[in-house]
Amino acid sequence: MGKVKIIEVGPRDGLQNIDFFVPTSKKIQFIKRLAACGIKEIQIGSFVGPQAIPQFRDIKEIARGVNTLQDVVLSALIPNIRGADIAIASGIHKFIFFFSVSKTHNCCNVRQTPQQSIEELKRICREYLSDSGTTLQVAMATAFGCPFEGNIKTDSVLRAVEKAAACGVQEITLCDTVGFGNPQMVEDKFAACRKRFPEIIFGAHFHNTRGLALANTLRAYETGIRSFDAAAGGLGGCPYAPKSSGNAASEETVFLFEEMGIKTGIDLKKLLGVCRFLLKTIPQAKIASSLFQAGLPEKHRYVADNKGGKTK
Ligand code: ZN
Repeated sequence: MGKVKIIEVGPRDGLQNIDFFVPTSKKIQFIKRLAACGIKEIQIGSFVGPQAIPQFRDIKEIARGVNTLQDVVLSALIPNIRGADIAIASGIHKFIFFFSVSKTHNCCNVRQTPQQSIEELKRICREYLSDSGTTLQVAMATAFGCPFEGNIKTDSVLRAVEKAAACGVQEITLCDTVGFGNPQMVEDKFAACRKRFPEIIFGAHFHNTRGLALANTLRAYETGIRSFDAAAGGLGGCPYAPKSSGNAASEETVFLFEEMGIKTGIDLKKLLGVCRFLLKTIPQAKIASSLFQAGLPEKHRYVADNKGGKTK
């Protein structure tokens, strides 16, 4: 029986784009409810300046409110070494460092060229990666296409991975920031990355901008990927990626895998409860999830057997 890891990015990617400021206590409740579903890793927010993303002006309070949670890895986005220092002081020991494969998107998103981002990544790795309690994951935005530059070649992704790997990074997520990816592209890029860098753990981050998030998720799984970012209720977007929309919905991603007999370790009923919580608590957020609207199927469930499957 297969197994996958779902990384919940709703509190970070899901909330960053909402104009309305979500009260700190509600963000903390959101994270605690997600942890209670059995989710093993949650991105709690971003240690960026309040001008960059006003939604996270309370990131230190959020971190303090959740950093004693057990059995869950809490991570946060850090744009630079200063963000890393504050994250550590707030009890967060897993960093997500973002940069875009596309130069134009990187300049808009973090106001640096990709090369400057790599220099910053080197400094963070030198400072923190020797500390055994700290881990770092690189999230590579626009790996499947850029709203400004269009097509992003696999070679460009491989070069970016090579630079991150040279800094000592072992976990890299390829992000379809604006939903340009399709299953064939997903297979091509992940297969090339895994072949060239077998020592790196690759993860996938899909947005459902054009309805292909789950198709891409499945193809990534078939290409050997076992780590998937997703957001409860399909929340999400990128402030610097025009018209980008929600992440792959966590509950639909869990449903996809569990229905095929691939374990996620996540309690789906509880996760749908988190969606209800979101609907009530953040009515400004768009809950884009067919599964949440339809509910779980009550009587029909596919159970694999030796003859290729049966229904009960
Ligand atoms: Zn995203």
